[in-house]
Amino acid sequence: MHSAKEDSFIVEGKLALPYQYFAGRTGSRFLVTLRDDKKIMGLRCEKCNKVFVPPRATCERCFSDLSDNWVELKNTGIVTGFTIVRYEEPHQPIKPPYILALIKLDGADTPITHIVKGVPLSKMKVGLKVKAVFAKKSTSTIMDIDHFRFDERPKFELGYSYDELEIGMSASFTKTISETDVYLFAGISGDFNPMHLNEEFAKMTPFGTRIAHGALPQSLMAPVLGMKLPGLGTVALEITVRYTAPTYFGDTITATAEVVEKLEKRRWVRMALTWTNQRGENVGEGSALVMPPTPMPG
Ligand SMILES: [Zn+2]
Repeated sequence: MHSAKEDSFIVEGKLALPYQYFAGRTGSRFLVTLRDDKKIMGLRCEKCNKVFVPPRATCERCFSDLSDNWVELKNTGIVTGFTIVRYEEPHQPIKPPYILALIKLDGADTPITHIVKGVPLSKMKVGLKVKAVFAKKSTSTIMDIDHFRFDERPKFELGYSYDELEIGMSASFTKTISETDVYLFAGISGDFNPMHLNEEFAKMTPFGTRIAHGALPQSLMAPVLGMKLPGLGTVALEITVRYTAPTYFGDTITATAEVVEKLEKRRWVRMALTWTNQRGENVGEGSALVMPPTPMPG
């Protein structure tokens, strides 16, 4: 007798199984309102003072019939939990990786599950405020909400922290120095020296014409350090400068700062500073010691 085991073999196959089901009176009303009115509806238990979304016909706590206590919810909510989907399956609504979150809509007491976009995977956290984005094309399913989007931008973006700064990183700012700038700077500093303001006097100086105050091109380093590198939140502790050439009216000055040293102990950074004009000449050089921004808790 031959063994059945030796003769048997397995054929891999696949069956497609189209199916339909009745969403129920409650589920139907929810999906139709979502599709036709772009409104997210929930059912409220008066007794328990709870709003259920997705809606349910019976209160899960007191078993009251809720079927007519419809309430409209806002399309904003808060993330109460989430997972990052990384595996790929044919039934998934979008390509992984994506964020699948529990979202408690404002006015609801139970969360719904949906996709969250608009936030990097690494920055995803519980407590984010999100808003429903409705699909352009209806499928008469919960996917009539295409996704929830995090779109609350922080008011200010802090610059590079000590840990993010690397030796060799640089940034610059460029501006053309006009006569108006020099005049305004004279007012700001109180330095009305005629070598900056009076052409006839300036002709008698070694420069032969008016030049800008040295501190004027120097001041162009402030937007570099304070707004670019390290950026917002930086505290300048020390700035040194050596003037190597004059700045004439109409000169276009580029102020550049480069990270040259990280002082591990105090978490400060030393930066090399250079000022050049449109002819590529150095008009100044120096160094800065800065305290990079530290994010405040909260
Ligand atoms: Zn109840």
